Amino acid sequence: MSIDEWLSQRIEKTKQAGLYRELRTMSTAPQPNMIVNGTQQIVFSSNNYLGLANDPMLIEKALNTLKEFGIGSSGSRLTTGNTEWHEKLEQRLARFKGMEAALLFSSGYLANVGVLSSLPERGDVLLSDQLNHASIIDGCRLSKAETVIYKHSDMSNLEEKLNETQSYTRRFIVTDGVFSMDGTIAPLDEIMKLSKRYDAYVIVDDAHATGVLGEGGRGTSDRFGVSPDVVIGTLSKAVGVEGGFVTGSRILIDFLINHSRTFIFQTSLPPVSCAAAYVALDIVENGQELRERLHRQIKLIKSSLEAMGFTVYGQDTPIIPVIIGDAAKSVRFSKRLQDYGIYAPAIRPPTVPEGESRIRLTVTAVHNDSQIEDLLTSFKEIGRELKII
Ligand SMILES: *Cc1c(COP(=O)(O)O)cnc(C)c1O
Repeated sequence: MSIDEWLSQRIEKTKQAGLYRELRTMSTAPQPNMIVNGTQQIVFSSNNYLGLANDPMLIEKALNTLKEFGIGSSGSRLTTGNTEWHEKLEQRLARFKGMEAALLFSSGYLANVGVLSSLPERGDVLLSDQLNHASIIDGCRLSKAETVIYKHSDMSNLEEKLNETQSYTRRFIVTDGVFSMDGTIAPLDEIMKLSKRYDAYVIVDDAHATGVLGEGGRGTSDRFGVSPDVVIGTLSKAVGVEGGFVTGSRILIDFLINHSRTFIFQTSLPPVSCAAAYVALDIVENGQELRERLHRQIKLIKSSLEAMGFTVYGQDTPIIPVIIGDAAKSVRFSKRLQDYGIYAPAIRPPTVPEGESRIRLTVTAVHNDSQIEDLLTSFKEIGRELKII
């Protein structure tokens, strides 16, 4: 059998299970109104929560940096790829997160994998929330420590697992700050209390909370007024650029520079991204009005959909999962939304549990009132048509 014959059999199985994925082509810059696969759509699925991905100030900074520093960084951070923009951005990120130091990675994915695969040693254990992001799961798989899963944000279950793992040398609790499929916020205050009682370290992946939650958009720790040992984030969501980062103590960062393989063996971020992110952090930190608008939009969409009779998951985060239940019905709902000019994907098992298939909406601060009205009208009409409400 040729490799292509073998792979097409495997793809056929994916199709039969209803799990086949296809790419869609965007022909416009990231903004609420985009051309998706050739048709105009209002996009309710991007991570560009504050609208910065297409911000004129970021673009101007990027253009100037591009002319001065070129496009590619030409090497890893430990060879020729460490520019003054990388260092400036790291100092800025440490200040932003209220931590001693920060370290850039090429993406949030690589930051998670880089920390989790290097920090815990053999004989240690990682206690990981059941709904943690794929990059945390992959980091745990690469770690020499064992992994124990606890039920989603279930503190009595976490405490049970802490009790059962007393024989390990070190315990690390690892959690998303905001969970990407459910839009829930980790109870970091309680997690920190348990970590102190059971002498465990805490690692938080704040990808969706950075720029969105807490004073100045500092994230989940700021919202709860706590200081986890390691806070990981991304520059690709509310910050509007690309790249991942880790913040913590100076020693932690020195350790990662020496031991984290996704840091050492990777070409560094292009300086242009660092300069754009540097400017973006000023907008994020001073973006209280943007954040207030974002949170008003979240409340409006959630309360309107609930009033119509939809089941909506999540807390006050830009991720608004609307539960449809049946997987095929969710796909049909998403297709009908596209007919109405609304782009929002259906999420099915195994990404979410059986019977909890959903339309995963995200909203940004830069959606206007009429775009939100269009969204709500479409949900009402399609919800009735498919007998969900
Ligand atoms: C998006 C995301 C990541 C990955 O970040 P990238 O910068 O896109 O690689 C990691 N963790 C969580 C929770 C995320 O939502």
